[in-house]
Amino acid sequence: MSAAELQGAVSRALAQAGYAGNSEVVRLCPAAGGAINTAHTAWMADGAQLFVKSHAAEPGLSREETLAMFEAERTGLELLRASGCIRVPEPLAVGELAGGAFLVMEHIALQPLRDQRRLGEQLAAMHLAPGPAHFGLDADNWVGSTPQPNGWYVDWVDLLRDRMRFQLDRAQLAGAAAEKGWELLRRLPGFFAGVDVRPSLVHGDLHAHNFAADEHGAPVIYDPAVYWGHHESELGIMRLFGGYTAAFADAYHWRIPRAPGFERRAAVYKLYHALNHYNLFGAAYLGLCEELLEELVG
Ligand code: ADP
Repeated sequence: MSAAELQGAVSRALAQAGYAGNSEVVRLCPAAGGAINTAHTAWMADGAQLFVKSHAAEPGLSREETLAMFEAERTGLELLRASGCIRVPEPLAVGELAGGAFLVMEHIALQPLRDQRRLGEQLAAMHLAPGPAHFGLDADNWVGSTPQPNGWYVDWVDLLRDRMRFQLDRAQLAGAAAEKGWELLRRLPGFFAGVDVRPSLVHGDLHAHNFAADEHGAPVIYDPAVYWGHHESELGIMRLFGGYTAAFADAYHWRIPRAPGFERRAAVYKLYHALNHYNLFGAAYLGLCEELLEELVG
């Protein structure tokens, strides 16, 4: 996938999508990307800037899947934007390349989020907003580049169990860790005894590299793995990797207090992301998965 191919394809995709500005890309500049995709800033003929994420197909991730991955990211960004609670970049176009795919979105001049209190308030508002009657989403999406099963479920625990099983199947843990993984699936309903779980709109992968501040200092969230799920599941990745301040937690939990059993469920939600990191990035995350399994069913 060459820069020239990407530049031409982005221009065509924007024109086709009816982009309101001038759709001609005059320059693509590499930008600091995330762990999964390649990032560029696109300079447009009218002087505007857009943000472009692209991904080359690779063994285990076909061109069609990279396209579906970006389509799912667009859907997720649109759902988060529709909630109106937190600033989210506007997705503008998705397109195919000879060997991959890309997503173009509004460029936001991001800076570190200094005051996380507003993120806590806005995230709680998003989680408290009314949603559908069931859990999940119309289609599967991706967390990082790992597929994330969706569909619609009446019971949150059934969706969570299917997702945990999917990660455990991929991880192929050996010996005691594998046993504990399957035992956890059996015990899962017990972690939710007496808890009233309602569908909340969840970003789904909100680690500290997936939020920042815009030019005015207001929170921005991006790179989601969206679904309607238990609001506590949002906090799993935050607690796994940190980067959250007491101001965030105070603001969030003032609006959504911790329910009984919160800490044990937090370990389940951490494990989901630990398994995903093991599946994405390998052995460095095995110890973490084993520790969490020990904590949960040891
Ligand atoms: P990946 O899917 O590879 O993890 P991200 O979507 O997280 O990629 O984007 C990588 C980085 O690019 C982010 O950490 C952020 O700094 C920056 N970024 C993401 N979205 C935008 C945007 N709309 N405008 C400007 N910069 C962005």
